[in-house]
Amino acid sequence: MKNEILNEIDRLITSARRVLVTSHIRPDGDAVGSVLGFGLALEEAGKEVQMVLADGVPKNYRHLPGSDRVIKRPEGEFDLLCVVDSSDLVRIGGVLEGYGKPQLNIDHHITNINFAQINLVNPQAVSTTEILADIILMFANLISQPVATALLNGLISDTLGFRTTNMTSGALRLAADLMDAGADLPHLYNNALINRSFAATMFWGKGLAQLQRNDSVVWTTLTMEDRKQAGYHGRDDADLITVLSAIVETEIAIIFVEQPGGRVKVSWRSKPGIDVSQIALKFGGGGHPAAAGAEFKGTVDDIRQKVLKTTTDYINQL
Ligand code: 5GP
Ligand code: MN
Repeated sequence: MKNEILNEIDRLITSARRVLVTSHIRPDGDAVGSVLGFGLALEEAGKEVQMVLADGVPKNYRHLPGSDRVIKRPEGEFDLLCVVDSSDLVRIGGVLEGYGKPQLNIDHHITNINFAQINLVNPQAVSTTEILADIILMFANLISQPVATALLNGLISDTLGFRTTNMTSGALRLAADLMDAGADLPHLYNNALINRSFAATMFWGKGLAQLQRNDSVVWTTLTMEDRKQAGYHGRDDADLITVLSAIVETEIAIIFVEQPGGRVKVSWRSKPGIDVSQIALKFGGGGHPAAAGAEFKGTVDDIRQKVLKTTTDYINQL
């Protein structure tokens, strides 16, 4: 079955000339790494490639080779549309509007809905870039330094620096191979996980000052006003959820981030044994057992009430 899919993917890539590679909105290190790693490798193989991210490349990933080539909207025609690291088509932010069904979906989200003609979804993979490393080696003899850099970026960011419970020795071996191919691990690690701006740190302060807890659930809210006061320009939580998820007394951490246009982005993180992707799915979102998210229309107060109730009910029925 798997081999059949790999053969089909090989055929698709071999016969394609103009390729589009895209991923999800508010891209994380794996989304950016997947688009760049796959896109640059296809280009090295002689394809004409457009790398597209509806929200562009976040600042902390603009050091990655090729990131200046990523555009927000596709231009022209393609004979191969690839979506990487996104579990559904809504999440790519309208990039494929007018283009029809993508041929290829490569992902590791357990909630992936198999939206393409060919779907290679492996929830055991720690990052989508881990899957892509194998795909790239089907059509390339070796992994170049820029491609290795992008792929290692995905591995590091989705495993929070090789420490998530889904880590495998295989992922660590791939990381070593990518270092041998020229990827600079400390540089990638620091940019993806450690370094942050003064504004982002002030934004954390806003969220931490409003931290709340009810038994095993901890949560906080970041409003548009908080963002303005902190001078933070991103639409995300500046990764504050990682701090909340380290709190030892709790099982689930949640952040509510107010968005423009009356929307709210919710992120869940959980300790092993609790699958928050199932909660996110109830709200049309998705993700992984230990890290999931969803986007809502409505006010922060309403959404928070609804989400906290559903989350508590979910824990209670376990
Ligand atoms: P985060 O909470 O950091 O945005 O995302 C955690 C995980 O859930 C990531 O793997 C991300 O791709 C996924 N995720 C976050 N928001 C959504 C969403 O609105 N829809 C879907 N399908 N997945 C999401
Ligand atoms: Mn990923």
